[in-house]
Amino acid sequence: MKAAVLYAPNQPLVIENIELDEPQADEVLIKTAATGVCHSDLHFMEGKWMCPMPVVLGHESAGVVEKVGSAVTNVKPGDRVVVAFVQSCGACDNCITGRPNLCSNGQSLNRMGRVKLNGQPLPQFAGMSAFCEYQLVSNKACVRVPDGVPMEVAALVGCSVMTGVGAVTNTVKLQVGQTVAVVGCGGVGLNIIQGAKLAGASRIIAVDLVESKLAAAKEFGATDVVDASSGDAVAQVTGMTGGGVDYAFEAIGLMKTAQQCFAMAKRGGQAVVVGMLPLMEELTLPAAGISFLGEKGIVGSYYGSTRQTYDMPWLMELYRQKRLKIDELISRRYELGQINEAYDALKGGEVNRSVIMF
Ligand SMILES: [Zn+2]
Ligand SMILES: [Zn+2]
Repeated sequence: MKAAVLYAPNQPLVIENIELDEPQADEVLIKTAATGVCHSDLHFMEGKWMCPMPVVLGHESAGVVEKVGSAVTNVKPGDRVVVAFVQSCGACDNCITGRPNLCSNGQSLNRMGRVKLNGQPLPQFAGMSAFCEYQLVSNKACVRVPDGVPMEVAALVGCSVMTGVGAVTNTVKLQVGQTVAVVGCGGVGLNIIQGAKLAGASRIIAVDLVESKLAAAKEFGATDVVDASSGDAVAQVTGMTGGGVDYAFEAIGLMKTAQQCFAMAKRGGQAVVVGMLPLMEELTLPAAGISFLGEKGIVGSYYGSTRQTYDMPWLMELYRQKRLKIDELISRRYELGQINEAYDALKGGEVNRSVIMF
């Protein structure tokens, strides 16, 4: 089966034939239908985050169940599913207290050696390696897709929509009337914006350097836009709000923008880091903002604090009711053989989201 293989950072992906094992008792073989071209994969391609290589990336995906292992009861062949990139065990402290995205056993569920390239075992990235025609995944990663939801839409629910909307509704539980800033208006940022709109934010200030992204931000619900190329973004946001916002979301993955978000939060407000900050660096913040003068906070948001089997169905229901824009996120569709072109377009800031269609 064809897959896009990354051999080393900063090299183009190579289309190769890989082999998948037969499903074990708790596994599901999925025929991939659509996989999103997410910026998180790019962090690994550019060597900013590390994983064993060679590797097949891809973690924003939906497909059709082809085969199931003997113990699988939640899905059956022919079911259309989103593949979530956490496979919570359901038994650890975080799972039983409602934080399955932080499952302590999640990593061990990412099986090694089930996928091979020329007889050599490959790691399964995010438990799925979705830039491949088929995926062998844990049954716990599968969330059924209802009728009326196209596969490329379901794929985006599997990462960018969940990550963005969930950061607002799950991680910080925004209250009606609160104010937000969103720094970075790509695939995830636009979903933070529409999540804030759904949750009833009174001001949604979109910040970006690219005019077309600010225009998209308005379509997704931003009430105000700040062009960070035309002067200090922090001064503009704090000036517009009389001192800052309740929540400033970082959706790029840069130290500088994380610091800017902390500065954009008002006294008692929070910076919410959704982007993947560089793995080995330290983030410094002004102490006065956190201590008694400011009572400000900074929090990370991983995968929209997802409880995937609960959250992904309601996200897809809101899409069906046309209350969540997902079709509009998809700028381009590519075939697997065009994947390098798709990532070049992402690097160039040309697209909200592209999808590889299988
Ligand atoms: Zn992603
Ligand atoms: Zn767990």
